[in-house]
Amino acid sequence: MSVTERTYIMVKPDGVQRGLVGKIIARFEERGYKLIALKLVQATEEHLENHYADLKGKAFFPGLIKYMASGPVVGMVWQGLDAVKTGRVMLGATNPLASPIGSIRGDYCLAVGRNICHGSDSVESAEKEIKLWFPEGVVQYTSALESWIFE
Ligand code: ADP
Repeated sequence: MSVTERTYIMVKPDGVQRGLVGKIIARFEERGYKLIALKLVQATEEHLENHYADLKGKAFFPGLIKYMASGPVVGMVWQGLDAVKTGRVMLGATNPLASPIGSIRGDYCLAVGRNICHGSDSVESAEKEIKLWFPEGVVQYTSALESWIFE
């Protein structure tokens, strides 16, 4: 856990089509996280198979890749204290029906196969995902708010 911990958060194609990009960004901004990378991208199936390599072999894998390639996604990197674990709490559970009200999935969606956003599940997968989606690197800048958010 550190103030420079980074997580990869992605608004999935259904989240983009439903106009939820701004709301999802706002939640991370308002919580106090710092945005250090952001892009709208139409991912290829090959790229998505790489991103979800750990799930290859699951019955839902082909449908997952088709869903994720069905439209553009918004990929972003958020930095701040405990970003990975807190990001997962902010997202809710994989199944939206098991997600608490107040979480992104608990507030905005219903089906596990249309759960509107992704968040890294460990610091190691965040590092891998950030490299995969932002091979050009993230943006370094000083946030004027840092001393008001962290001790
Ligand atoms: P998470 O996205 O919460 O980390 P997983 O890594 O287990 O969850 O799964 C990746 C994505 O695959 C999920 O967010 C969801 O879109 C999809 N998925 C997982 N389980 C199922 C399922 N049983 N049926 C359909 N899609 C699923």
